[in-house]
Amino acid sequence: MSLIREAVEWLLPHKCDICGKVADVTADDIPGYKDIYGRIFNEQPGLYICGKCFSQLVPLEGLKGWTLCLSDPMSGDPYPELALFAPFPYDEICEKAIPAIKFRNRKEIARLFGIILGKTVRDNGIKADLVAAVPLSEERFLERGFNQAEEIARPVAYATGVPFATGLLERCIDTRKQTELKGGEARFLNVKGAFALSAEWDVTDLTILLTDDVATTGATLHEAAKVLLDAGAAKVLCIAFASNRTVKNKETV
Ligand SMILES: [Zn+2]
Repeated sequence: MSLIREAVEWLLPHKCDICGKVADVTADDIPGYKDIYGRIFNEQPGLYICGKCFSQLVPLEGLKGWTLCLSDPMSGDPYPELALFAPFPYDEICEKAIPAIKFRNRKEIARLFGIILGKTVRDNGIKADLVAAVPLSEERFLERGFNQAEEIARPVAYATGVPFATGLLERCIDTRKQTELKGGEARFLNVKGAFALSAEWDVTDLTILLTDDVATTGATLHEAAKVLLDAGAAKVLCIAFASNRTVKNKETV
């Protein structure tokens, strides 16, 4: 980047990482944010967001965030009752924020979402023995520089006081991007066999909060949860910031 361009960008106001308008909310405007962020990530936040986007990050009321992970389980699915807690609506904000995180590498937005999600998970009284994140393939991790599911999961672990299980699950095959596939069945088959439990962990009789950024078909979370349940976990609760799953489950933790 030329020096002149760098200087111009420095003089111009930052743009909201979600909508592109002028970013007018700083980390100082959110009570306690800098302190919590520093404790979790051991650095200072560089938040660029506008007041309008921030004010729309409001969780669904009561039990509306709980659904089944798969609205339409595949026949023979051994875990059709798998629960998903995704307390924010999959709306315009998410539709803009998720590509910003994944394709424009806006890690700060994933962390902001994680901190808000963590507080919501704690306020809902959700408890577990471990928090884990859906892993990225090595190729995509190197491309992006971070795993957005982990950036969201770490604040959930912090807020609930539950240990974060680093590297609990591994990606054993590099699947096609779920966003390139249309339809639940194609996505379900694409992730089949994609995950394995790390040899360093034993999950027998543990309750695990398995975290991803969003759940659209629910297929990725379901496949990752299946590995943990097959390995003897007592319970897996899937957690995502937002989802468009609609079938309610009986979970009321
Ligand atoms: Zn905005």
